[in-house]
Amino acid sequence: MHTGISRIIADLNEIAKFVNFKSQRADIIAMRPELLDVEILSGKRTFTLGVEGISDRMRRYLHKSLNEQELLKALEQIYARKPRQLKLFFMITGLENDKDRKEFKDFIMKLKRLKNELSPGCRTIMSFGLLVNLPFTPMQFASTIKDPDSIKQIKGDLKRDCETNGFEFRMAQDTEEFLISQHVALGGFECFNVLSDFAKNGGYFDGEHIIGDKNALISSLRSASGEGLYGSKDENYVFPFETLKGTPAISFLYRMYNEAKSFLDTGYCLEGKGVCIGCDGCDDRKLSKVPEVAQDDINRPKKTAERKKKPQVVKAAVTIKEAGRFLTPEAKCAFTGRALLEYLPSLVKDYLACRQVQNMPASKGYGFLFGRFLYDFEFLSGSEVFLEYLKTGAIETPILSISCVSEKETGTNFRITSSWKDVSRYSFQNRLQEFLLGNGMGFDIAKSGGVTHFEVAVKDRKKKLLNSAIFQQDNGCVSLEIETGSNFSIISILKHLFGEEWMEAKVEAI
Ligand code: SF4
Repeated sequence: MHTGISRIIADLNEIAKFVNFKSQRADIIAMRPELLDVEILSGKRTFTLGVEGISDRMRRYLHKSLNEQELLKALEQIYARKPRQLKLFFMITGLENDKDRKEFKDFIMKLKRLKNELSPGCRTIMSFGLLVNLPFTPMQFASTIKDPDSIKQIKGDLKRDCETNGFEFRMAQDTEEFLISQHVALGGFECFNVLSDFAKNGGYFDGEHIIGDKNALISSLRSASGEGLYGSKDENYVFPFETLKGTPAISFLYRMYNEAKSFLDTGYCLEGKGVCIGCDGCDDRKLSKVPEVAQDDINRPKKTAERKKKPQVVKAAVTIKEAGRFLTPEAKCAFTGRALLEYLPSLVKDYLACRQVQNMPASKGYGFLFGRFLYDFEFLSGSEVFLEYLKTGAIETPILSISCVSEKETGTNFRITSSWKDVSRYSFQNRLQEFLLGNGMGFDIAKSGGVTHFEVAVKDRKKKLLNSAIFQQDNGCVSLEIETGSNFSIISILKHLFGEEWMEAKVEAI
């Protein structure tokens, strides 16, 4: 961890709404618990610690340089600050013996006491993964878990110990995904065709899970690589890509592997935690210092937190263009914030965040179709600079634009027009009736001059979906005007009416 991390957090706090990091070392928290204060002041309420081994012995095997005493000290400090959630991440290596399991059980009992005493409301999750022996680490030489059944018993014991003591138990991935990841991590070019064929047959990895015939993939990978990949390996084993520049020396990795096999952990190059272990990662071989937390690093986030309690919130429309159509909501916010700051760099210190307005008819109404969404923009100050700028023109990027939003657009009435291939007389009316009845809305129908008027029953308007719908159908085209309520979702009506072609429909606020 950077020795000046608390100053970095305090600085970032002044330009971002929240400052968070995914996971952190328990030993550093035990040595410097004040870091938690800076984090809490930055809005952090959930903590994740990588504990890895289930016992001191297993942590020595994984060179985690963390004993139970330090771990409990860190956890006590976290619970004392009443977080919303704590997640501990462990690894199952397949080498755990009865003593290790007993130690884990004792640890869980101690943790339960701490939690009950200091933070009974904190949701605590124990997440377990199977150890993937990664290349360019000492564990590349170790034998890998080949048969997940061999760790069934350990898994069962750990689950029982967690759950009977009020902690949630989770496995981070399913066993087939583990076997594939492990194989791909240590396999070489011989796996290329197998993976390529898997993809050609529709298999894919969505960033978290593998979709496709996983068992067939495992067996093809195994036949392509042979058994050598699973057993323990010596210094002469040729690993894929081991000639890549900048990777640790094989002799170093093998020495560390031998230490791991003897459950020996000599610590790492942090003052108070060990010595230089000779990884060749730096030239001066100087030990790092434990991060300092200056009083100013606590005072500044305190002041900023006060200011953030009363942000200025203004609305604008964000139009997502074709290129950004499949972005996640988080990515849309990130690109929107970036576009704003590129156009108005003077707002870097004042802009906090933006988010799509979820419960307003405007977003639901026109958002998905035109790619036009209503957004809230949050500022510490300076929101008027943003709104003034939008009056002079939109903020344009290749994937989105930000523009003023008019009163009319935040209304509740919309016109939908689309082609309608089935020209038979009542086809569209039937579809619309199905939608209304399917959503529990009774209605009256009136017809005049080629226009059909649906008036939703007064008692059913309380559902806040639709008040009325008026449509016309002619020459392969329909036009539908709707008056909506706040629970209305344009997507559901469009999908129901137009099926797979729902995205072709045009929606406008009226
Ligand atoms: S070489 Fe540098 S980075 Fe590697 S262990 Fe020694 S001090 Fe640490």
